[in-house]
Amino acid sequence: MKIRCFCISGKAVNCMIYKPCPKCKRLIAQGLTYCQDCQPIADQQYAEYRKLKQKRYNQNRNKKYKSFYNSKSWKTLSRAKLISVNYQCEAHVDNACTGLAVEVHHVKPIQTLDGWNRRLDWDNLEAVCTHCHNMRHPEKSRKHDPDVIDLRTLKK
Ligand SMILES: [Zn+2]
Ligand SMILES: [Zn+2]
Ligand SMILES: [Zn+2]
Repeated sequence: MKIRCFCISGKAVNCMIYKPCPKCKRLIAQGLTYCQDCQPIADQQYAEYRKLKQKRYNQNRNKKYKSFYNSKSWKTLSRAKLISVNYQCEAHVDNACTGLAVEVHHVKPIQTLDGWNRRLDWDNLEAVCTHCHNMRHPEKSRKHDPDVIDLRTLKK
């Protein structure tokens, strides 16, 4: 069947090789997804959709770590770790650090699969002072990192 197709060439063409653009219904070549006007809009929408998905994923991920750091088992274990070293920093980043250890660092980061499996593994823990802990995490500013232990809660 031949129809007159104004959108593509203005000439009569065999429209079997064309299909309507899903958005604006103009005829487009069979191999395309959208017409050239709708494609950038569709790309943009897809990019936004991906961004939103990534954001949700990160939120869920952060929730997982946050609830771990708030868990009773972590609080008990990290407190025991600090007590076992008498609050002496173990990091020795600057040779012999004499800093007061108030935080417990995961040698294998819990953001990795191995680290997550070893999140309560004594051998994966290191009692650190704030300074050395910051040196352990050069990749990010740790201002709001949840593995910081509030000393006031320790003294209880
Ligand atoms: Zn279109
Ligand atoms: Zn750490
Ligand atoms: Zn230190």
